[in-house]
Amino acid sequence: ELYNQIQDSKGNIRVFCRCRPHSKEEISAGFGQVVDFDAAKDGDLGILTVDVFADALPLVTSVLDGYNVCIFAYGQTGTGKTFTMEGTDQNRGVNYRTLEQLFQIAKERSDSFMYNISVSVLEVYNEQIRDLLSTSPTSKRLEIKQSAEGFHHVPGIVEAQVENIKEVWDVLQIGSNSRAVGSNNVNEHSSRSHCMLCIMVKSKNLMTGECTKSKLWLVDLAGSERLAKTDAQGERLKEAQNINKSLSALGDVIYALATKSSHIPYRNSKLTHLLQDSLGGDSKTLMFVQISPSETDLSETLSSLNFATRVR
Ligand code: ADP
Ligand code: MG
Repeated sequence: ELYNQIQDSKGNIRVFCRCRPHSKEEISAGFGQVVDFDAAKDGDLGILTVDVFADALPLVTSVLDGYNVCIFAYGQTGTGKTFTMEGTDQNRGVNYRTLEQLFQIAKERSDSFMYNISVSVLEVYNEQIRDLLSTSPTSKRLEIKQSAEGFHHVPGIVEAQVENIKEVWDVLQIGSNSRAVGSNNVNEHSSRSHCMLCIMVKSKNLMTGECTKSKLWLVDLAGSERLAKTDAQGERLKEAQNINKSLSALGDVIYALATKSSHIPYRNSKLTHLLQDSLGGDSKTLMFVQISPSETDLSETLSSLNFATRVR
């Protein structure tokens, strides 16, 4: 396990690079390791997973304080995006840990604040939004609307009220089960769609009566790899073009924010439009750029590092 912070921008966007371990298959196939990290950071996986989470933790407090936050994992398929966000039972990911922390802090503050927390689980595939919590799959297109207060939302999506981490976990299971429906290969499908959890927090200050509303987005992005030439046709081509379009749009939005551009092009993709409230303004963003250490993945690794550098 290799984990390193490659940059820490001054604004509200932090970018971290996480490199998965060299796999047995890669080693036995004789592929070299081309990513060399600070040796001091090498070590036990458990410790380092906590390390990864340490960067996400303060953002949980921000959400409960009324700020919008977005945490996402970017990178080629097979580099650990899902490992970082979802994790495993032994190694809980960012999703579980941030939510556990969210309920913990909400409980500690329960004398002074009342919190109402709900969760939505969406998938964006081929520039279409799918509600993974919906029990009535309709053909109705889900669209993004802006409320009178300026909040972006998707009218009609399920917002499941949750009281504790157990309830969130159950909701996430429903989400991942319905993600599988209609696809022959779940892993392939999930690498071609963006999986997005939205945690909505309403708070009421019991002393002053002041109310706030904030959102935490946790996003496992579609794989950033370029399409092999042999696959460049039909449905695969369309998928690849849509992924490319939305990841480029994400890069453009973050770049425009980082360079303080007067126009932030949120509307160029469903992904950036959905995330609009949680990218820019006084919101906070944390991006994990996931890479592979193997020489066979070098060109994708360079392209991911370029993405990270551009949004610095
Ligand atoms: P992605 O979601 O980017 O396609 P995955 O999260 O599915 O990638 O990871 C690919 C494989 O690598 C999985 O078997 C996963 O368990 C393993 N893996 C990824 N990151 C790590 C890590 N930091 N430590 C150990 N194993 C990892
Ligand atoms: Mg994945």
